[in-house]
Amino acid sequence: MTDIVTEKRAAPKVSFVSLGCPKALVDSERIVTRLRAEGYELTRKHEGADLVIVNTCGFLDSAQAESLGAIGEALAQNGKVVVTGCMGAEPEKILAQYPQVLAITGPQQYESVLDAVHRAVPPAHDPFLDLVPPEGIKLTPRHYAYLKISEGCNNRCTFCIIPKLRGDLVSRPAADVLREAEKLVAAGVKELLVISQDTSAYGVDLRYAPSAFKDVEVRAKFYDLARELGKLQAWVRLHYVYPYPHVDEVIALMAEGAILPYLDIPFQHASPNVLKRMKRPGSVEKTLGRIEAWRAECPDLTLRSTFIVGFPGETEQDFQMLLDWLDVAQIDRVGCFRYEPVAGADSNALDGAVSRELTDERWHRFMAHQQAISAKRLKRKVGTRQQVIIDAIGPTVAKGRTKGDAPEIDGAVHVASRRPLRVGEIATVKIERADAYDLHGTVIGF
Ligand code: SF4
Repeated sequence: MTDIVTEKRAAPKVSFVSLGCPKALVDSERIVTRLRAEGYELTRKHEGADLVIVNTCGFLDSAQAESLGAIGEALAQNGKVVVTGCMGAEPEKILAQYPQVLAITGPQQYESVLDAVHRAVPPAHDPFLDLVPPEGIKLTPRHYAYLKISEGCNNRCTFCIIPKLRGDLVSRPAADVLREAEKLVAAGVKELLVISQDTSAYGVDLRYAPSAFKDVEVRAKFYDLARELGKLQAWVRLHYVYPYPHVDEVIALMAEGAILPYLDIPFQHASPNVLKRMKRPGSVEKTLGRIEAWRAECPDLTLRSTFIVGFPGETEQDFQMLLDWLDVAQIDRVGCFRYEPVAGADSNALDGAVSRELTDERWHRFMAHQQAISAKRLKRKVGTRQQVIIDAIGPTVAKGRTKGDAPEIDGAVHVASRRPLRVGEIATVKIERADAYDLHGTVIGF
């Protein structure tokens, strides 16, 4: 009697490190999806993996240092390393420190990453492992997903090197985005987080050309895309919206409940002097008027923004103007960065550098000032009923978010419930109290 032995090669294992912003995370998801489709297995540990891929971030010098640290760690623990992402646009910086990396590819160069992986560790074909869900592999929890609508940016903010790294704006046709969104929703995603470098510029490069989604022609336009996404029975949240006048149009969609009443607009500053040096739109008075009009049309609107303090040339008067502007604008959620020169950024050539100590001092003053505003805004929710999407289940309370909270960056709602909750479920919660960042409440309905 003879035994028939089927030789089956074990699936090669890849360890993946994803650094940087949600846009980089989407790139990581695309690479991981392709690897899984080709039969690679993913592992959390560098040791024992056949290869490590590091998706780097090159936005700030501190992010580059973190990326270089991650590459060094992967080399020490494994030895076989492929580097991709924003820092891949400047390979000399990586090679100067780590000449032994196997390959370096730039952002969105999915094919080149795959080629490098194939060369280092050929795939073991296994039809069972080839079964990948049509929505791809998500690195975010199953109930929310990032939806990238374009790459690159046509703006030239002086502190930013993204256009140099990623090039000018390239938008995806609307039908392409909608098909991906539809697959995600069909797979159980409850919340779509729309991202790009500049969401409101969507479609400019395509001259807003329409494309066919089902039997409807949808223009590649910010408003049209938001309207169609709003029909998919999921929460739709808009991130990285540049304050152009046509943003006003989407407020109507928010007021009627088609998309979430949430806008993430990085204003960066409020002094016309600083905004001019940043090459950002400078009409702060007009912006205040528009914020007022948005809130009149959609009272539930949550505004999130980011600011930079210590930008070259920022005087005490400019900074005070920013604090005064915050008092009037009453932005709900705010992030603040200390200005940091980035190699290759045009702002490095500006005069009037602000010292590290002064930048720190302004950052602390900014945070204390805004914290009081954010806490006051949050307190207005006490006593209201809010729809809350559940992100995590704890031993006594669950953790979720209202329509006004984006995952990872905003606050949470700590939810008590008589019946067990499930991750991804949306419950109606009576808000009972607020602390500096978070809300607390009890489920009163489903
Ligand atoms: S809008 Fe400005 S900060 Fe944002 S990616 Fe474009 S150039 Fe950079």
